[in-house]
Amino acid sequence: MALPEPQEAIVEFNKKLTSETSLIRLKLQKPIDFRSGQFIQTITLLDNKKIRRSWSIASSPKNKEYIELLIKKYEKSLISPMLFKANQNDKITIQGPFGFFTLIKPYKKETVFIAAGVGVAPLRSMIYDLLENNIDTKVTLIFGFRTEKDYLLEDEWLNLEKKYENFKIIPVISRPEKNTEFFKGHVTDFIPKIIKKSDDTDFYICGPNIMIADTMKVLELIGINKKQIHIERWQ
Ligand SMILES: Cc1cc2nc3c(=O)[nH]c(=O)nc-3n(C[C@H](O)[C@H](O)[C@H](O)COP(=O)(O)OP(=O)(O)OC[C@H]3O[C@@H](n4cnc5c(N)ncnc54)[C@H](O)[C@@H]3O)c2cc1C
Repeated sequence: MALPEPQEAIVEFNKKLTSETSLIRLKLQKPIDFRSGQFIQTITLLDNKKIRRSWSIASSPKNKEYIELLIKKYEKSLISPMLFKANQNDKITIQGPFGFFTLIKPYKKETVFIAAGVGVAPLRSMIYDLLENNIDTKVTLIFGFRTEKDYLLEDEWLNLEKKYENFKIIPVISRPEKNTEFFKGHVTDFIPKIIKKSDDTDFYICGPNIMIADTMKVLELIGINKKQIHIERWQ
């Protein structure tokens, strides 16, 4: 199959969500036909070298004219700080879509998404895909983060809960800075409290490697079959 052509996308907005995370919308010159969960690569020319980096598409596949990315900036790293501070109308060369981390059909009765931090990016696209297409599945996002200010897109999740009866967000905070009604700990502490053994649930996980490994262990201890667990590794 032919590779998608690279194209210049234009930054429509770059919204800072935290001091190290931003949500960028890129307007595409040529619409791309992506599936939720897939990623694109940015191609950046540095010292005459083309540097490629991968970023999950975080927006709904309903919109083909633009894509949104959730970027975490790592200090002293090459490309993420450039994207983090990109300005409106900047041009960014992208290529895609790529990847096989996509929703599995037939859909199960329940779909549970488990993410830590910016790992929620591909899951956000999948969640919109299920909800906007009125898929008959109960959608739960178990979302881990450190402090209150690291709770990415809080208002958006709450609005989705109001709009869609079948969507629920469960925030899990590891280092609360004040009294909190959220569950305290890591997602792996919380999963055994709400997940029961069921063959009719699919799990999608994205986050740091260690979090993926620990989450899979916990799910398998509950009796969830490996075939029901779908993961995206970023490293
Ligand atoms: C399929 C795929 C999808 C991805 N989607 C996203 C996404 O949606 N949003 C996002 O923010 N990232 C995503 N990533 C990770 C992202 O591609 C890397 O963080 C990126 O390569 C960083 O590039 P850089 O040039 O800024 O860092 P580099 O200059 O390549 O790295 C320099 C140093 O920065 C640190 N560092 C960089 N990245 C990471 C990391 N992921 N975890 C821990 N330390 C790191 C390390 O210390 C590293 O040695 C994805 C990766 C893959 C493979």
